[in-house]
Amino acid sequence: MEDWRREALRNIPSVTAILGSEIGERLIREYFHATAAGAAGETAGELRRKVMAASAPEDLSGLDFSAEGAARSAAARVEAQGRPSLRRAINATGVVLHTNLGRSPLAGPAVDAVASVAAGYSNLELDLATGERGSRYSHVEEILCRLTGSESAMAVNNNAGAVLLVLSAIARGREVVVSRGELVEIGGAFRVPEVMEQSGAILREVGTTNKTRLSDYERAVDENTAALMKVHTSNYRIVGFSESVPLADLVELGRERGLPVIEDLGSGVLVDLARYGLASEEPRVQDSVAAGAGLVTFSGDKLLGGPQAGIIVGKKALLDRVKKHPLARALRIDKLTLAALEATLKLYLDPDKALIWIPTLRMLTAPASECAVRSRHLAADLASALGDRARVEVTEGFSQAGGGSLPGVDLPTTLVALSPSGKSAAQVEAALRGAPMPVLARIQKDQILLDPRTIGEGEEDLVVEAFLHALPPDGSD
Ligand SMILES: *Cc1c(COP(=O)(O)O)cnc(C)c1O
Repeated sequence: MEDWRREALRNIPSVTAILGSEIGERLIREYFHATAAGAAGETAGELRRKVMAASAPEDLSGLDFSAEGAARSAAARVEAQGRPSLRRAINATGVVLHTNLGRSPLAGPAVDAVASVAAGYSNLELDLATGERGSRYSHVEEILCRLTGSESAMAVNNNAGAVLLVLSAIARGREVVVSRGELVEIGGAFRVPEVMEQSGAILREVGTTNKTRLSDYERAVDENTAALMKVHTSNYRIVGFSESVPLADLVELGRERGLPVIEDLGSGVLVDLARYGLASEEPRVQDSVAAGAGLVTFSGDKLLGGPQAGIIVGKKALLDRVKKHPLARALRIDKLTLAALEATLKLYLDPDKALIWIPTLRMLTAPASECAVRSRHLAADLASALGDRARVEVTEGFSQAGGGSLPGVDLPTTLVALSPSGKSAAQVEAALRGAPMPVLARIQKDQILLDPRTIGEGEEDLVVEAFLHALPPDGSD
């Protein structure tokens, strides 16, 4: 071995020396001794690897062999290990229902309900009035019936699960008639034909991609038919020469032939979004119930703005069969979700309150003028924090509902457009993701675009901090 390498190996501080330094002693006070010693050992090990990998003494010039320096690295290691993998982030993309970012943030009362139920025991499956065993569905059944006009209701893990469960319970081994225009794929893995196959129901496709008539359904119905099904084409629109059968007509046919109609609404809204200025064709759950659908399924965390859940409402006789199916146990909703769902639904008792409290609805209905004001404020804060490290301007643009909801509906907004000097937009975007509070932004033409519509109120300062992390002043890089 070369002399310089042997010398360097001798200079690597021991675990005892690292832990004996000022930072090392603090580490031992704040964490278990074993954790601190483990991190110190890993730090010394890494120094050793670097010394062994060096091909010349110059390669070692950047290494810090002091016990204090190694303790600082060890502390950074311990902190990184303690940092949660799943953590809060800021959505500056302008996509309101961003599935990769967790879809709907919860309303304050829903957050409080989760915290309260999480911290102790609860009456999850206990009837407090009688002391007897109760049903976990009871906590949301009454309010779901009240809000949608249905006879019965339940909630499961998510809407994909709700559809699978409904088809398994109602149509296993028999045919379900669906229009070819509604055999959709949602968000990658949810494909109507594949879910149908998993459930054991047999898909009976009718009509064509763009046109399906009532007579197509009529011809397909025979003694092997279990149900008629309608699927909301959540994330796409067929425009032009097209025709589909209204739910009410399918219900009428079902009544004549003694068949239930199942509808997968996907998003499912409880308020009339058109009243709040959204050019929305999103059907309301209560309209499907009123039209006579036997079972209606929808998501808890899309336009409803609650936790991830699959909600099933409809006729009692059908829901009783669904609730008894063994898959219901496998797909059951957990208590934290239930707490959040109940609190979210309660807000809908007053629709105007829902619009104010539920972040998803508030963001979707935020007027363009409000986005413009917030954008100008954020741009001014960023410009003064970053100085000549970036050019900051505001520009008109559009936000999106996302989550397979409201396709083709562009929400006018004002964006902050940032052109970094000396670094590419892609480099800065990556650094924003690595900030202590990660910020997710859009990139367009080497500019970073921030949409205030999805940035939470009060999160602006954290956005500025993330930019200071991504574009630090000279010398502190
Ligand atoms: C989103 C969607 C689903 C899946 O719902 P998840 O809650 O994501 O499981 C199913 N069907 C339709 C029509 C949808 O839009």
